[in-house]
Amino acid sequence: MFGWKALHNGLAVNVNLAKRGLHIDQKCPRCGDANEALEHMLMTCADSRKAWYFSPLRIDVAQVNCGRFRDWVFELNHNNKDEEWWVLFWMMCWNIWVGRNAWVFDRKQRDFMSLIDKAVQGGMEYAAANTRKGKKDRVNEVDVRWKPPAEGTYKLNTDVALLGGNLIGMGGVVRDFEGDVVAAFCCRKEATNDVAVAEALSARLGVKDCH
Ligand SMILES: [Zn+2]
Repeated sequence: MFGWKALHNGLAVNVNLAKRGLHIDQKCPRCGDANEALEHMLMTCADSRKAWYFSPLRIDVAQVNCGRFRDWVFELNHNNKDEEWWVLFWMMCWNIWVGRNAWVFDRKQRDFMSLIDKAVQGGMEYAAANTRKGKKDRVNEVDVRWKPPAEGTYKLNTDVALLGGNLIGMGGVVRDFEGDVVAAFCCRKEATNDVAVAEALSARLGVKDCH
């Protein structure tokens, strides 16, 4: 989401806020040397530049010829960097933005080395979450996937929401073997705040309605 916003110049840097009609100082809140456009925030602000340079990516932003951030990304993409490289790239962008916000909103100064550490750490967490072990630890996706019933039969799925004060919301859908919804219901009822009982009530109501 962050990357998509950055590529569409949709981050709330001062230049963009001013474009939307806010009467604010467009200067960079970190260095005060230039207006805070997206490119200044992510690329050319002194701390951002240092972070890129001393990161494992070793990017010298001064050598980048593209004026726009998205052009830079497309240019890098053209060079076919591997996935690990891109994970770290986006982690760097994200942490530069988070560091900028920590300064703007909390007056907390994050030096560029700790920013790099956080980006590398984020990259490792991402990699760990995508290893086989990480996947195995998660809920087995096959087990929770909805499967259609056999031809000529229907499947009823129900669910419930506890709304507080013994009030529950119940709902369900009936689908045929092609997965098309043939009936649906929902209602509110004062009954219980016990989730197992509420689930059972919802299933019973579903069965009754189907009848
Ligand atoms: Zn700056």
